Amino acid sequence: MHYLDNAATTLVPEEVVQAMADALLLHSGNPSSQYPYGQDGKAIAESGRAVIAKALGCPKEQLFFTSCGTESDVWAIRGAVWHGRHRGRHIITTSVEHSAVLETCKWLEAEGCQVTYLKPDRTGMVSAQQVADALREDTVLVSMMLVNNETGCVFPVAEVARLLKDKNSTALLHCDAVQGFLKVPCDPVSWGVDLMSLSGHKLGGPKGIGALYISPRLRNFRPLLPGGGQEQGLRSGTEATAQIAGFAKAVELRLDNYESKIRHMSDLKALCLEKLLTIPGVVAVGGGTAPHILSVSLPGYPSGNIVSDLGSQGICISAGSACHKGKSSHVVSALGLPKRTAAGVIRISFSPDTTAEDIEAVYQALKNHQAQRCAML
Ligand code: PLP
Repeated sequence: MHYLDNAATTLVPEEVVQAMADALLLHSGNPSSQYPYGQDGKAIAESGRAVIAKALGCPKEQLFFTSCGTESDVWAIRGAVWHGRHRGRHIITTSVEHSAVLETCKWLEAEGCQVTYLKPDRTGMVSAQQVADALREDTVLVSMMLVNNETGCVFPVAEVARLLKDKNSTALLHCDAVQGFLKVPCDPVSWGVDLMSLSGHKLGGPKGIGALYISPRLRNFRPLLPGGGQEQGLRSGTEATAQIAGFAKAVELRLDNYESKIRHMSDLKALCLEKLLTIPGVVAVGGGTAPHILSVSLPGYPSGNIVSDLGSQGICISAGSACHKGKSSHVVSALGLPKRTAAGVIRISFSPDTTAEDIEAVYQALKNHQAQRCAML
């Protein structure tokens, strides 16, 4: 198999499976239980939190575990709007956020909030100036992702944080860093981001674990789940110790030789683009600089068909975001591409384990695909 869909999810390394198995087999007591077997589970959760918080550059007390990136996004946005409820009801976000953000904003619109959706330019970028232009007295939240999951564009989150400070805005800043964490610079504390969402399964961890960074300046942030009082009373539910152990191990693995892993992904992305552009008709989509995401189009050919065709040859890529399940992608639509180009957009995404052979396989498959198509015309 040639797995080139790492923005959808990543393969789980054996070390991560082992860390999870140890947590399940050896230390599976309830972390809230006071006897040593339970406290072993607590130790796993707390050492995992310390590893991930250190990688994010935040105190471990500010990192809260959730079940996924979606949960972190929903909690952050609903919590921020509640936090600012006496100051206003206006939210700024971009029209190319993940559906976890966009659907939450739609809920909030139905509850009386006003949302400004910033449109990207043709390369997929949104600027800090657009945020400045949309900012109002009653803006309570700006939610901007760090890396777009379809174009790989890196958004100017640090600049937006500076801008909010310069303008003395009371709006909170949420960043969905699910695709950006450990791929591009990501530093919520020094940037001044209030809330940041992470997910384990985009970097070699298991599915079913996410985290939310909450700045210490947000005292009394609204709890997500009431109950037994875990996660400092903000997100109740028995800690998913095996998932946490797996997430933390995945982070440790990614940090080992971090720079060379990033360089490896960037080099393969450049190689892949260079090769694909030699195939007649192929065009690059967006100007994303994240090292792990590449979008191209084979204009006029439905991307769903390309994905199934390559899938049957053991090559895994995707047609835009995997979450769209056949529906046309809102990100691709927002780029304003010609119809034929938009229809043929595919996403190829890399991990530190991607090889030059994987790139060669996708190149050959797309080249054959295009040759057969030309022969039929
Ligand atoms: N945000 C972004 C940018 C994503 O790419 C994804 C998943 O694709 C999510 C949020 C949702 O994360 P999860 O699958 O952990 O719920």
